[in-house]
Amino acid sequence: VKQAGGNGLSFFDITLQDQAYQRLTLAQELQQALNEEQFELFYQPQLVHPGVVLGAEVLLRWRHPERGLLSPDAFIRFAEETGLIVEMGEYVLFHACKQLAIWQQTPSTARLELSVNISAKQLKQANFSDKVLDIIKHTAIDASALKLELTESVLVEDFENIVSVMQILQAKGIRFSLDDFGTGYSSLVYLKRLPLYQLKVDRSFVADLLTDENDQAIAKMIILLGQTLGLEVMAEGVETVEQLKILYKLGCYHYQGYYFSKPLPLNEFEHYLVKASGG
Ligand code: C2E
Ligand code: CA
Ligand code: CA
Ligand code: CA
Repeated sequence: VKQAGGNGLSFFDITLQDQAYQRLTLAQELQQALNEEQFELFYQPQLVHPGVVLGAEVLLRWRHPERGLLSPDAFIRFAEETGLIVEMGEYVLFHACKQLAIWQQTPSTARLELSVNISAKQLKQANFSDKVLDIIKHTAIDASALKLELTESVLVEDFENIVSVMQILQAKGIRFSLDDFGTGYSSLVYLKRLPLYQLKVDRSFVADLLTDENDQAIAKMIILLGQTLGLEVMAEGVETVEQLKILYKLGCYHYQGYYFSKPLPLNEFEHYLVKASGG
């Protein structure tokens, strides 16, 4: 993009070059982070009324050597754009299953469940189900402890393929959750045809539950829809006891959010488990 007149680079050229350089750096850094295991799994407790910890959602963090602990906001979208998410997602799944294997060997943690986020790019890889089944075999876990969280974006294309991949994995005991429900382009027809176990009410509807009648109406509808389809409904982003009470009144009994706990590093999550079970 050359500008008329000058023979040097225009401001526009420079910013573009700058952006391209930054992207290249981030791509190299992400690849290096994978090689050097700078990624860390955090665990956010998931509970069922009246306060029983069922397990956790696995949330990725990047322990960057210079910039400290980074949230997915800083790198997940980029990883999706570049396709690096496929390798990252495999890393997360493998380490989540390894952790399940450890827990499954001890009676007090044997029944813990983990929810792992799967990006649409990952799910659309031709060998996705083989990869998942390989990891399960390799870690020798009971696959019914594993839940995969998908977002509505997977519904946009390849619907038939996605359904068959999900069916293969479901047959092995893996369960599926539809994340951020209500924020994307869900079609109720598609929803009915997906082999789902759980619907997650997006945090945005929970946030204004007390003050926004529309949000409360939407939350109510999602919970009812889930019940009608025979799905478990989990509310995310529960921050206050007031939100919890409304959700309970609306018929939602599965919760996740800061009211219970933020996402925690492994050792803190294990402490949380001990405390929550009255230890
Ligand atoms: P998500 O799957 O919707 O995960 C829930 C996000 O909400 C997490 O943000 C969590 O820390 C945050 N959260 C939970 N409870 C509360 C609450 O009570 N209040 C507020 N304000 N926030 C709460 P986080 O960890 O920053 O992750 C952001 C997103 O990054 C996730 O949204 C998910 O889409 C993506 N992500 C995280 N880990 C992975 C991964 O391993 N693979 C993929 N593909 N995506 C991931
Ligand atoms: Ca999620
Ligand atoms: Ca979510
Ligand atoms: Ca969300």
